[in-house]
Amino acid sequence: MQTIDNFNFSGQKVFVRVDFNVPLDENFNITDDTRIRAAIPTLKKILADGGSLIIASHLGRPKGVESKYSLKHILPRVSELLGVNVDFADDCLGQSAQDKTSALKAGQALLLENLRFYAAEEGKPRGLKDDASEEEIAAAKKAEKANQKEMAKQLASYATVYVNDAFGTAHRAHASTALIADYFDENHKLFGYLMQNEIDAVEKVLKNTARPFTAIMGGSKVSSKIDIIENLLTKVDNLIIAGGMTYTFTKAQGGKIGDSICEDDKLDLAISLIQKAKDNGVNLVLAVDAKAADSFSNDAQTKFVPVDQIPDGWQGLDIGPETEKIFADVIEKSKTILWNGPTGVFEFDNFTGGSRAVGEAIVKATAKGAFSLVGGGDSVACVNKFGIADKMSYVSTGGGALLEFIEGKVLPGIKAIRGY
Ligand code: AMP
Repeated sequence: MQTIDNFNFSGQKVFVRVDFNVPLDENFNITDDTRIRAAIPTLKKILADGGSLIIASHLGRPKGVESKYSLKHILPRVSELLGVNVDFADDCLGQSAQDKTSALKAGQALLLENLRFYAAEEGKPRGLKDDASEEEIAAAKKAEKANQKEMAKQLASYATVYVNDAFGTAHRAHASTALIADYFDENHKLFGYLMQNEIDAVEKVLKNTARPFTAIMGGSKVSSKIDIIENLLTKVDNLIIAGGMTYTFTKAQGGKIGDSICEDDKLDLAISLIQKAKDNGVNLVLAVDAKAADSFSNDAQTKFVPVDQIPDGWQGLDIGPETEKIFADVIEKSKTILWNGPTGVFEFDNFTGGSRAVGEAIVKATAKGAFSLVGGGDSVACVNKFGIADKMSYVSTGGGALLEFIEGKVLPGIKAIRGY
């Protein structure tokens, strides 16, 4: 397989699938350009070699052509960060895209309009009537799959090399993230730096694991984390459960959780996960105390209570000081650390303490040589909020893609290039 470092892009026309799905405010100003910056090293390497760039992305969830989701809003920032004047094709398919891509010369860059203006990108029919029959639905699905193949073929026809640097969509089998790769031989399709770094970080954690390996799983609900927890129970030495899921585990074991968030239909699951941890020799670490609040609000009254003795009318919105110490102790002795999800409602400043303590313990372990991977949404927001992102070994840009990768699933965007 080719690697981006070893590939010489001189004279090549390179189709690069990036994830420029950045948040915009109501005036279409970018409020966080992290995703654009993350792809710049790949784009610069291709230009520096003397290649030309065809940059393609999705933005938002348009239902067709919707100008508020046009990538032209982000064109100036892409040009600025890349340091060249990037041209814009106001359609990713059709004659104008064909003309613009074929006129590209070495060192030039072109941004295509939003791929998701076409339903074919995702390969799912849009606008099906509520009363559509099963036959109509099946026919629409089949037609859209055919359109998707056609779209992948057209996109591929613009270029001599395909580079995928869109980790955020690697778990989707879309025209531009997976199907397109079929039109390039194995010497002309490769991962960009971002994609390669993400893959390396996850594989360092899951395959070449230095032990002890500790995963910290936080967030609100156990139901959204079952697959990942089950997979981790076959891999980790310590599994720390934090956040809102804590209370499902506490209640399942007969504790009193007051008004804390709880999934009553997952109590049996919690018990079976506790048993699985025992069977696998995994040290399952649960909270022993909570910072309880008398309402779901930053200004609520608070008190520290044992996690299984939360009074009625109160709810656990973060871990307590005893738990912080227990978690930190486990984390600081670890050599591989995965953090997904906050320990409490970190959006409220009065309930960030636990997540901050976890973050700081990871900083200490990392400084002592541990490999730390932070990813999957809100824990990334945490490390940014606490100003410690650069003290982690790797902060992932992927949400769903990262979680599915850690769950042990094969991601279509990765398989399309390396075959597995
Ligand atoms: P997730 O998207 O599953 O990672 O969940 C992240 C969300 O979980 C954040 O918005 C947190 O505010 C929320 N969360 C964490 N701990 C709690 C808790 N004890 N009670 C309610 N929500 C929580």
